[in-house]
Amino acid sequence: MNSHLDHFEVFPWNKNFETGVEIIDEQHKKLVTLLNELAGTLTQDNQVEVNRVFDELAEYANFHFETEEAIWVEYFGDDSWLSSHQLTHSSFLPKVVELKEQDTNKSLIEIIEGIVKFLIRWLAFHIIDNDKRMAYVIQNMQAGLSLEEAKVVSDKKMSGSIRVLIETVLAMYDGLSSRTLDLMRERYKRQKVEEELHNANKQLRKANTSLEKLSITDQLTGLFNRRHFNNMFLREFKRAYRNTTSLTLIIIDVDFFKKVNDNQGHSEGDRVLVQVSKEFKKLCQRPGDYAFRLGGEEFGILATNLESQGAIEFSETIRKSIEQLGIPNVYSDISKNLTVSIGCVTKVPDKADTTDNYMSIADARLYKAKELGRNRVVTSN
Ligand code: GH3
Ligand code: MG
Ligand code: MG
Repeated sequence: MNSHLDHFEVFPWNKNFETGVEIIDEQHKKLVTLLNELAGTLTQDNQVEVNRVFDELAEYANFHFETEEAIWVEYFGDDSWLSSHQLTHSSFLPKVVELKEQDTNKSLIEIIEGIVKFLIRWLAFHIIDNDKRMAYVIQNMQAGLSLEEAKVVSDKKMSGSIRVLIETVLAMYDGLSSRTLDLMRERYKRQKVEEELHNANKQLRKANTSLEKLSITDQLTGLFNRRHFNNMFLREFKRAYRNTTSLTLIIIDVDFFKKVNDNQGHSEGDRVLVQVSKEFKKLCQRPGDYAFRLGGEEFGILATNLESQGAIEFSETIRKSIEQLGIPNVYSDISKNLTVSIGCVTKVPDKADTTDNYMSIADARLYKAKELGRNRVVTSN
């Protein structure tokens, strides 16, 4: 999860931290790893994760102290060095908890940052000063010295200027950890910004898509609008010409629609237009079939996958479907129900054809259907 932060460490391990006791060194390394992980979580706004790593660290520290003390006791017995070492161990957790629970105006993140710095100092100092000193005693005892002799040798080695050096190094660690935390935070922020930018772009694309959709949609019926019809018609016409495939144009006009408005009101007229549009949409489910509202109560259908017999049948299906909706148009001169008249042209475009002459043919056939008594389909001149 924190892979992008992996190469940032507030506490880089250094060979000088090694005591020479393998199991202790291993556990120290694990503590340092957890500490670095804790620092990593600080740069993200994830308090749950901060708490999880924090608890893991505290628990592991306890476990480590037990292991370590079991090793020391073998050599130190009831020596005062061990009891004072145990004291530092046992004061460790309470100190951390105290830092965590201090009642200040600081945010949890700031508090944990304080703890991280304390931990770095404590661990580095404890390892270099105490643990190494103890380990050095063990080494000398293993080489044949008595405990008292070994303590003197170890003390000499670790005192004086070494102490000053440790302080200096720790101060450097402090500065380093602050700068590293800043860096990690910067990096996390940048990542956040990039994420936001990405989301904003996504929103923009979405908005563009809905705007595009809006611009080709008839607001009342949800069908494609006249503008889109013009574009699609030209596009499909050219494609049909290129591929020598047939193109079908069906123009549909509601019969005596004015009477719906006049007798039942304009808003009922609107509802009727929505109803018939739904039916057209339903009838145009196959790929290559498109339904449009061309204006008022006039609709158009483009079909790219029909031969002439299929086009005639499709037109008839449309007419019948609307009649069977059973929408009342009681003042219609020809039926109790709402009906439509249809003009249809279906052909492979040739050199002389244009979208305009397709349109004229379909219009003329629609006019003829009206003349012949309405509620019918005309597919030839
Ligand atoms: P015909 O059978 O000859 O087509 O007769 P018609 O009454 O359907 O045709 P006409 O052109 O005389 O009337 C069409 C009516 O459609 C007139 C117009 O007010 C109405 N109209 C056009 N657009 C809308 C609309 O969006 N909503 C409603 N409610 N009415 C509309
Ligand atoms: Mg220790
Ligand atoms: Mg009409």
